[in-house]
Amino acid sequence: MLGKLRPVGSRVPRPAALAASNSLPWSRFYVTEYTASGTEALSMAIDIAITRKPKVPVPEIILPAYGCPDLVAAVIAQGGAPVLVDFMPNTPFMNVDCVRDAISPSTVAVVAAGFLGIPERLESLSEVCEDQGVFLIEDSAQCFPPASSEIPRADCVVLSFGRGKPINLMGGGALLIRNELAESSGAVLERYPVLTVKTNIQWRIKRLLFNLLMARVPYWLLEQLPFLKIGETRFHQCNAIRRLNLPSDLVAGGIDAFKRRPVIHTVYDRELEAIEQFGWKRLGLRNADNTRIDASWPRIRYAVLAPNTELRDRAVQALNKAGIGASCFYRAILPEIEGLDKWVECRGYTNAREFASRLITLPCHEDVTANEVAIVAKVLGELSSCQSA
Ligand SMILES: *Cc1c(COP(=O)(O)O)cnc(C)c1O
Repeated sequence: MLGKLRPVGSRVPRPAALAASNSLPWSRFYVTEYTASGTEALSMAIDIAITRKPKVPVPEIILPAYGCPDLVAAVIAQGGAPVLVDFMPNTPFMNVDCVRDAISPSTVAVVAAGFLGIPERLESLSEVCEDQGVFLIEDSAQCFPPASSEIPRADCVVLSFGRGKPINLMGGGALLIRNELAESSGAVLERYPVLTVKTNIQWRIKRLLFNLLMARVPYWLLEQLPFLKIGETRFHQCNAIRRLNLPSDLVAGGIDAFKRRPVIHTVYDRELEAIEQFGWKRLGLRNADNTRIDASWPRIRYAVLAPNTELRDRAVQALNKAGIGASCFYRAILPEIEGLDKWVECRGYTNAREFASRLITLPCHEDVTANEVAIVAKVLGELSSCQSA
C-alpha cells in the first residue's frame, strides 16, 4: 500500500453541541481548569502540591524513570527537584516499594503517569501517598478517561489535548482538582494568565489541514522532510504556564469522537498472542501484572516488548518498510535524554532501562484496520521464527 500508516494521532474533532448527558466523566469529583498544554497543567498541579508544604526548601517530586521529558520540564519550572523511580520488571509501572523508599521529608508529590493508555496502579500508590502525606497527581495525558474519574484517588489529574494524545484539539490541556481542594487551590491558579481559544475560520482551516496531513501519503511525505524531525523525543523547557479559556463544545466534540473511535487494541491482543512463544510480551492486557484495565476504551498506541533490543530494532525497521509507523517511543530513560542529565541523577533504573530498550509501539488510531494488524503479526512472526531457527 502507498504511503505510511502514521504511528499515532487522531483527527481533530468538530465542536459539538454539549448535550446534558455529555457532562465531563470526572465532574462528580473534580473541578476542571483548562490549560495551554498538558505540561502546563502538570506544572500547576506541582505548584499546588508545593504550596501545601511551604516549609520545604527544595521540594522533591517523584517521577517514573522512563517517560515523557515534559514531566521533568513541569517540575523544574516550579523550582522542584525531580526524583526518579524504577519500574517493575517488564511493565510500565513504578515499583511501589521504590516509591516508598524515595519519599523523604522534602517530597511533596508523586506523579503517576498512565503509559500509552495503561493507567498506573493508583490503588497502591494512593495508599503510600496517604500514609506519608504526599500529594498524588495522575498524569493521564496518554489515557482517557483518567482512572480517577471512576474512583477519585488522585488529588489532581492532568490531561493533554495535543497532537498524538487521546483527544487532539491541536493543543491545550486540563487540570482536574479534587472538589475538596478546589477552594484552597484557587489562589495558586489565579497567578496564571488566561488565553482564549476561538474556533473561528482560521481554526477551522488549521483543523482541515491538520486532518488532511494524517492520511498515508501526506504523512509519508512529511516524514521525508528531515527538518521536521517527526517523532523525535526532545526536551523542551516549560517557559510559560497559562490557563485556557477553551470552548466547552470543543471538549465535548473531542470526547464524543473519542467514544466513537473503533477499538483496535483488542485485535492486536488476539493477533499477537502467537509471538509470545518467542519471548514477546503484549502490554496492557486485562488482568495482567495485577491490574484491572478497562479494555473497552480506545488507546493511542499498542505496546509490546521485544525479546531483546536487536530484534526490537530489526522489527521497527521491517514494520516501517512495510508501511506501518512502528516506533521505539522515547528510546531512553529520562537521565539519558539530551538536556536532562543536569536535572536528574542517573543511578541504576535497571528495569526502566530494559523496558526502554525493548519497547515497540504500534499504531492504534481510527485508520488502523484488521488487515494492517495482520501485517504487523506476520512481520513480527517471521522475524522471530527466523531468529530462533
Ligand atoms: C504529552 C505528555 C505530557 C505533556 O502534554 P503536552 O500537552 O504535550 O504538553 C505530559 N505527560 C505525559 C505522560 C505525556 O504523554
